[in-house]
Amino acid sequence: MNVSVVLFTSDLRLHDHPPLLAALDGAREVVPLFVRDRAVDAAGFAVPNRLAFLSDCLRDLDAGLRERGGRLVVRSGEPVEQVCRVAAEAGADEVHMSADVSAYAKHREERLRRALEAEGVRLHVHDAVTTAVAPGVLTPSGADHFAVFTPFYRHWSQKRLRDPLGAPRSVRVPDGVGSQELPSDKGTSPGPAPGGESEARRRLTAWLRDGIAAYEDRHDDLAGDATSRLSPHLHFGALSPVELVHRARATGGPGAGAFVRQVAWRDFHRQLLAARPDASTADYRTRHDRWRTERTAREDIEAWREGRTGYPVVDAAMRQLRHEGWMHNRGRLLTASFLTKTLYVDWRIGARHFMELLVDGDVANNQLNWQWVAGTGTDTRPNRVLNPVLQAKRHDPDGAYVRRWVPELAGIDGASVHEPWKLPARERAALDYPDPLVELPEGLARFRKARERG
Ligand code: FAD
Repeated sequence: MNVSVVLFTSDLRLHDHPPLLAALDGAREVVPLFVRDRAVDAAGFAVPNRLAFLSDCLRDLDAGLRERGGRLVVRSGEPVEQVCRVAAEAGADEVHMSADVSAYAKHREERLRRALEAEGVRLHVHDAVTTAVAPGVLTPSGADHFAVFTPFYRHWSQKRLRDPLGAPRSVRVPDGVGSQELPSDKGTSPGPAPGGESEARRRLTAWLRDGIAAYEDRHDDLAGDATSRLSPHLHFGALSPVELVHRARATGGPGAGAFVRQVAWRDFHRQLLAARPDASTADYRTRHDRWRTERTAREDIEAWREGRTGYPVVDAAMRQLRHEGWMHNRGRLLTASFLTKTLYVDWRIGARHFMELLVDGDVANNQLNWQWVAGTGTDTRPNRVLNPVLQAKRHDPDGAYVRRWVPELAGIDGASVHEPWKLPARERAALDYPDPLVELPEGLARFRKARERG
């Protein structure tokens, strides 16, 4: 066998990349290929913040390949058509790629397999590249996936992971396979994190050295910003989840267990979406909600999106999202609970807004976390409602997070920043900051009534 194609998708790295190493093992020359899929653009998934991060990833991947004597081939269009065309141009007899979980990715894989087979080219799909444990490997008796995280995690943590692989030393790409220019998209958020495997590995090393030990105690500290911020790197596959888990465990520190447990949530949502692809848009477990929508709650939804709800911690988190294309997990929980439960707005509206801005925006993690918070997903306490004031006092006790993101409130000392409506009337009147959209007991009563009715 002479030439293989490696189709990169959400695995934009050289370290621990089983499809690339398998291709190099079996072929004299390899075409590392990325196809910019026009259908993904058309479906609205290719938003500026993620395209900017993707550009960084592709540039870094190309640079890494060039250091090894190769290069990245970039094409755009319909992926099946493009892969077949490149395989024909290169005279390839095999194509390697990673398995993925969404309905779209699985459909693409099936179509690709059929089209390549018709040309006499074999498709190899590799598991456990974009997850630590492949979906479907762990199942409870009598079901095709775990619907509750705790038993999933028990099995997941006992599963032996394959050993991580090193990056290849050299990659020979056949002459004459043309490439488009690498993209250089710009995001809409002014303060996004840079992407690319080099940056991902730098961040991982720093995290394991300086951050992970305190994770258990500090992961909910909104102002402390003491989580790994590895989510965009995992989403684009610049970092291998298998390698991440191995290296995190090897630190042996007190925070490692709590951190790895969080990474397992990622696999949990992936095995769930793989089994229930409709859960990206339909309730995983219906509660018969008759949600408020753009038509019935337009102003509330707009205030939430803009970070003008009158609840400082909710507004701070929504503004962090807009500025950075990222939001702290505690902020995501609070803002999603506020939208779906306090305002009783359809979770799909919130999920769509997050997907428009998040650099780590990911169908499995975003939609299923939204469903978890909305109580239509896997939370075993579907009617719990987070109180944004109590949450703020607990997770931002001196108000530093709110003051950072809501400059109108920057002059208010201590925890009183979380309840500006309690300030003396004159001070209150001087603030350019809205009154709460809804009183919390009123929101709670509306939600409870709706769920009882359901
Ligand atoms: P860390 O705390 O350092 O955790 C390490 C890694 O574990 C993360 O990078 C992530 O890959 C994984 N992880 C952590 N928490 C979760 C979780 N609850 N579910 C699944 N995986 C998790 N995460 C995304 O990657 N993409 C999304 O689109 C996304 N949307 C979300 C929407 C809502 C409403 C909520 C409540 C959570 C969402 N999350 C999403 C999960 C979580 O908030 C982020 O993964 C996390 O905040 C990323 O920051 P970090 O890398 O510093 O996380």
